[in-house]
Amino acid sequence: MRECKKCLLLESAEGEMLNVIKEKISSLSPEERCNDDMYEKRLFLCKSCDNLISGVCMKCGCYVEFRAAFLKQKCPDVGDRKW
Ligand code: SF4
Repeated sequence: MRECKKCLLLESAEGEMLNVIKEKISSLSPEERCNDDMYEKRLFLCKSCDNLISGVCMKCGCYVEFRAAFLKQKCPDVGDRKW
């Protein structure tokens, strides 16, 4: 598999997975979901992080485009949280 370091799914060829994630995000309640500004800021920070590979955070194994959508989630890098 080709690694796409510092890419989000949005920028990779994983379009089908991104559609699944978007569908799951749209099913979250307003209480569970962060707002669009916060979501974009989180993804911006992930994109400059060395732990991001092919849309997946190497600290937790999550697709960041999914994890970042949850209001109460945090960056899992305990020693160096970016968001
Ligand atoms: S460690 Fe934090 S900032 Fe880095 S990719 Fe994971 S969630 Fe994003």
